Amino acid sequence: MCLQVNHWFIFGEPMKNSRRQFMILSAAGACTLALNGKVQAQAMVSEADPQAKALKYLAVSDVAGKNCSNCALYQGKPDSAAGGCALFAGKQVSAKAHCSAWAKKA
Ligand code: SF4
Repeated sequence: MCLQVNHWFIFGEPMKNSRRQFMILSAAGACTLALNGKVQAQAMVSEADPQAKALKYLAVSDVAGKNCSNCALYQGKPDSAAGGCALFAGKQVSAKAHCSAWAKKA
């Protein structure tokens, strides 16, 4: 005879093993997504980044009237200090920055 004593209960009923696994994996997945989004939101493009160097990225634009905030590839809000860029996936660029791929926002 086998006596199972390690039940997990949810809403007063014991969870089946597959349901428990689903709940654990769902929670782990949600945490991973949340943490990943937070890390990505904090990561800024560095001028030392090889891709940034290749695109001559400068954190503060040296070209009058051309910066990330008025570039077609900028994904940040108009009044934000930083935002995403289509060329730097998972990172943020400064709204005041500039690179050689700058294109006028329509
Ligand atoms: Fe800024 Fe260059 Fe990205 Fe345009 S393409 S948003 S200028 S980093």
